Amino acid sequence: MGTQEAVQQVRGGFEKLYGTPPEGIWAAPGRVNLIGEYTDFNEGFVMPLALPHTAVAAVSRRDDGVLRIHSADIEGPVVELHVDGLAPLTNTSWAAYPAGVVWVLREAGHTVTGADIHLASTVPTGAGLSSSAALEVVTALALNDLYELGLTGPELARVAQRAENDFVGVPCGIMDQTASACCTEGNALHLDCRDLSIRQVPFDLPAQGLQLLVVDSRVKHALGDGAYAERREGCEEGARQLGVPFLRDLAYEDLDAALDRLSDERLRRYVRHVVSDDHRVEEVIALLDAGDIRGIGPVLTAGHESLRDDLRISCPELDLAVATANQAGALGARMTGGGFGGSAVVLVEAADADTVTKAVGEAFAAAGYTAPRVFPAVPSEGARRVG
Ligand code: ADP
Ligand code: MG
Repeated sequence: MGTQEAVQQVRGGFEKLYGTPPEGIWAAPGRVNLIGEYTDFNEGFVMPLALPHTAVAAVSRRDDGVLRIHSADIEGPVVELHVDGLAPLTNTSWAAYPAGVVWVLREAGHTVTGADIHLASTVPTGAGLSSSAALEVVTALALNDLYELGLTGPELARVAQRAENDFVGVPCGIMDQTASACCTEGNALHLDCRDLSIRQVPFDLPAQGLQLLVVDSRVKHALGDGAYAERREGCEEGARQLGVPFLRDLAYEDLDAALDRLSDERLRRYVRHVVSDDHRVEEVIALLDAGDIRGIGPVLTAGHESLRDDLRISCPELDLAVATANQAGALGARMTGGGFGGSAVVLVEAADADTVTKAVGEAFAAAGYTAPRVFPAVPSEGARRVG
């Protein structure tokens, strides 16, 4: 389903549910990260791009404090809440994502006196493509427009992140929400997670006869649950031992000397991953600014090896996807996102896309894995009003 179909669907659905047409319709995309993994909480660099897949929300204001939320993708009745009754960590359903945005806006002193929301999304859930950020950002943008709050894209991303961190209770960085709010068509987004400055970096794949395939491995390993916190703690301990505020503050040139000063092998691996991945983001930017998209292939693959061997957050399915894609003629590939499942990205000549897709499918079948879902990630537009 494309965004236009989703717009029609939520318009019709809203009227049926709430009895009136919505005041407007907004869209916000999922994202995939090209390079820069586990660097965000080290105040480093990331480089996501927005997917064509979007969350679409039909929304109207209310002045009686009532908040009604419904998803076309979830069985069940309208979730009815009251803005005065919203409290962090109390709502464990999907509705906590949009409700959390209302809570954050009101906590920040904005006037939001209720809303009717009906949404649908084409972002695959739980594939590491940030379907949750899409829900938050589409809600934040809709309320920003309707209540004329005057918040910028990066500010809406902060609101959405706080909703996920503080209301839902998921300790994510700022990348997903910034990508959903701020990406533009034909570009990847360079985000500096220290000062939150952003820059659009040209990534016009079709113009160079290239495709970026997303391989959704269809798995999520339970191992991932405590791993994020463990890696984060290790990075913070590494920075402490090296006497820098964040690993961002360690220059790539000084990495080898710094590793000798760390107390154990685990910290050495984590520090090496983060500092080298920040460096890889800079390499990718230099190549893209020079118009050499093909040149980033080996950098992506080096990033995968670092995630696999140093940070150790990959899994057999993602390793197989990357190795098979590269053997079948891809220019480079890496797992993307939090790891232990989710998706990989694969840079291919457009002419080789079918061959590579087929090879990965066959390798998964031979290994007895669930068939992966493979689709091209065209760098797409960030959050916007669509109706
Ligand atoms: P990811 O963001 O990587 O897709 P998360 O676990 O962070 O994975 O977010 C997925 C959750 O977001 C789902 O379990 C659900 O609660 C919510 N969600 C995503 N899309 C929808 C949707 N279309 N309708 C309702 N809830 C959704
Ligand atoms: Mg998420």
